[in-house]
Amino acid sequence: MSFAKKILLNESDMPENYYNIQADMPNPTLPPLHPGTKQPIGPEDLAPLFPMELIKQEVSKERYIEIPDEVREVYRMYRPTPLYRATNLEKMLDTPAKIYYKYEGVSPAGSHKPNTAIAQAFYNKAEGVKKLTTETGAGQWGSALSFACAQFGIDLEVYMVKISYEQKPYRKVMMNTWGAEVIASPSNKTNSGRQILEQDPNSPGSLGIAISEAVERAATSDDTKYSLGSVLNHVLMHQTVIGQEAIKQLEMTGDFPDIIIAPFGGGSNFAGIAFPFLRYNFQEGKNIRCIAVEPASCPKLTKGEFRYDFGDTVGLTPLIPMYTLGHTFVPAPIHAGGLRYHGAGAIISQLLKDKLIEAVALQQIECFEAGVKFAKAEGIIPAPEANHGIAQVIREALKAKEEGTEKTILFNLCGHGYFDMSAYQDYFAGNLVDHELTDDELYSDLRKLETPPAA
Ligand SMILES: *Cc1c(COP(=O)(O)O)cnc(C)c1O
Repeated sequence: MSFAKKILLNESDMPENYYNIQADMPNPTLPPLHPGTKQPIGPEDLAPLFPMELIKQEVSKERYIEIPDEVREVYRMYRPTPLYRATNLEKMLDTPAKIYYKYEGVSPAGSHKPNTAIAQAFYNKAEGVKKLTTETGAGQWGSALSFACAQFGIDLEVYMVKISYEQKPYRKVMMNTWGAEVIASPSNKTNSGRQILEQDPNSPGSLGIAISEAVERAATSDDTKYSLGSVLNHVLMHQTVIGQEAIKQLEMTGDFPDIIIAPFGGGSNFAGIAFPFLRYNFQEGKNIRCIAVEPASCPKLTKGEFRYDFGDTVGLTPLIPMYTLGHTFVPAPIHAGGLRYHGAGAIISQLLKDKLIEAVALQQIECFEAGVKFAKAEGIIPAPEANHGIAQVIREALKAKEEGTEKTILFNLCGHGYFDMSAYQDYFAGNLVDHELTDDELYSDLRKLETPPAA
């Protein structure tokens, strides 16, 4: 059989609906709880933060939710994205496995994140919202939302984790170019920020702190809402355009995946590629292994506890049933910034608890080795986050070689690494270290939790 190494779809093949896995998962997620009353929250509790359409999507059990024309119009700038067969990497590894990757780095912001940023900006605009607030760690989410807000004419205030603000000036300039205001977090603009600065004037910040600041700003201003780049059900659902396209592209090759792999921060790019395929497991008796890869220095899926916890550090968000390391957990400053979050979303956590997906934690040096191999073979220099997925792909491809099995592996190359060259520089200079967490580092924040257990 012969087929192109690059598998492209026509514009008309772009998905018309988001796929909502809540319609098909065997056990539904537990409800989010009000942080004060500890009772399940209703739509009115979320209304200060999100437009009504996104609140509806958050709890919807409809299998398909139509993608608005205005959103598809902006997707057309870079969607459908290409699927590649990594033939050079296969040769380099001398593996009988077939390796495919979906490349989301072709978006203007360089990652999968615009898939939800565009949708969120649109739904806010449609409900008359003038301004959004958000947080960003490594800067990828902030730049994706800046781009999307510019498309729909909405103002944006981005709270950027202070250490990244200082170390990644170009990400900040990107956001400014698209018109966003970028504030180093913790800041003096919010009570949450001032509270943290009082305890530690030199705080390097964390994603959880930046979320507290962005949420507080939205909750206390009338025409302003908040936008989150991962974790929540509606965010994961917007990413399913990735997997739906990949299904069509793989059909063109005649192959079907045995294993699907994606890096894991809050779950959005993993959900994007895996959820549409999980339907085959749930409904057609297929047995695709879906593997989420997290950094060993922030191992909520493999070492966290399944219980209710806050999405932010200060404790302003609803309580979400999730695998968590505790909302005050501050991970070591590894170079895959986008993977440094203390928890996972409700859907992912339920699927993992039910053993319908798998998780592994990898050390960063192995991940950078894998990323460099990939770049040499395939050309594209991956985002450090994506390197986690690639390292697991290489493990599985080598295992297939040992066992002499012809596995088909699909992974999400969720972004390019061209703004992360300083991370590669540190790797080449030998400045990266693997970080083995002590039990104390791992569990001290969990032990402090007073939130309810999740049954
Ligand atoms: C943000 C980001 C991640 C981590 O977030 P998820 O929601 O888990 O996808 C991973 N890779 C890239 C390139 C990112 O920008």
